[in-house]
Amino acid sequence: MSASLQIESRPAAFGAAPPAGDMPLRVIAPGRGSDAAEALARAEPLYARVKHVIPPIEWPVFAPDVAAILRLKRARDAVILAHNYQTPEIFHCVADITGDSLALAREAMTVDAKVIVLAGVHFMAETAKLLNPEKTVLIPDLRAGCSLAESITPEDVRLMRARYPDAPVVAYVNTSVAVKAESDICCTSANAKKVIESLGVRRVIMLPDEYLAQNVAKQTKVEVIAWAGHCEVHQRFSGAEVRSLRESHPGVIVLAHPECPPEVLAEADFAGSTADMAAYVGREHPRRVVLMTECSMADNVAVAHPSVEFVRPCNLCPHMKRITLPNIRAALEGMCHEVTIDPALADRARRAVERMLAVR
Ligand code: SF4
Repeated sequence: MSASLQIESRPAAFGAAPPAGDMPLRVIAPGRGSDAAEALARAEPLYARVKHVIPPIEWPVFAPDVAAILRLKRARDAVILAHNYQTPEIFHCVADITGDSLALAREAMTVDAKVIVLAGVHFMAETAKLLNPEKTVLIPDLRAGCSLAESITPEDVRLMRARYPDAPVVAYVNTSVAVKAESDICCTSANAKKVIESLGVRRVIMLPDEYLAQNVAKQTKVEVIAWAGHCEVHQRFSGAEVRSLRESHPGVIVLAHPECPPEVLAEADFAGSTADMAAYVGREHPRRVVLMTECSMADNVAVAHPSVEFVRPCNLCPHMKRITLPNIRAALEGMCHEVTIDPALADRARRAVERMLAVR
């Protein structure tokens, strides 16, 4: 049981999602002539990977970009890191490294290429750059932000420190590089408890996700002082929705991400990071399952488990969905949208990330 939990907040803290009218627009056009046929032929073997989640009629829309990206990766000496919330045509057809935030941060250190394209949101690209200062890191759309990362500023962290001077600051990786620079150590949803307990202290400040902090506080004796930031995707799930899904889909196994409100985790069969959820499905092979997390996650896990029935309540992350095959292709063609970080800030932020990666 937790020692105690306090929640701190700053009014009007949350970053806004892009307005609906400002979402990326994908124009679907038929391919033409021999170029399109050649591109289709080159990309065709990859379709086998995603045929369970992408209908055959949609594949010709993706195939030319897939083929072009494969060619550009070789030409640019580039690798693509893709988060679990990317759509299947990115995740399974052009990505070299896939995973949750922790896996991407770890793998980013081992990349043997001149260029990293981060198919994910901005803080992930910053983390990749922190760990690879000599490499070129591109993000296909610079507007791919995160409501959680935008919920807190470096000034907020300094105020929290002044209020609780004995408590080290544990920053979720879903924060800006400037917030990481003010923090003692980072964590992800996969390692938060381990990170907090590695510090050997009576209490910690854990920011910015209130629900993750609440959920971790239930598993540790360390006192947790939280910040009232939320993920706009996970905060939409409710306990009532879980109950309704159980009624409409008898026997469904419910897996929930710890960024969901605690009432959702209380109703779930299992709680864990996206990597933990994927591992659960691989290990347990449930007949019918629902993942209370971003929508594309179920598609990506379903590819490897065609016999499992996935119930899909679809909460999309508008920031993750800014990344598309056409803008990955454009980033590689033009070598544009490079992520740069002030070196002094980077040194301080890198310490917090590296300290987390040293926790085993
Ligand atoms: S799913 Fe939530 S935490 Fe992840 S990038 Fe989107 S808004 Fe941020």
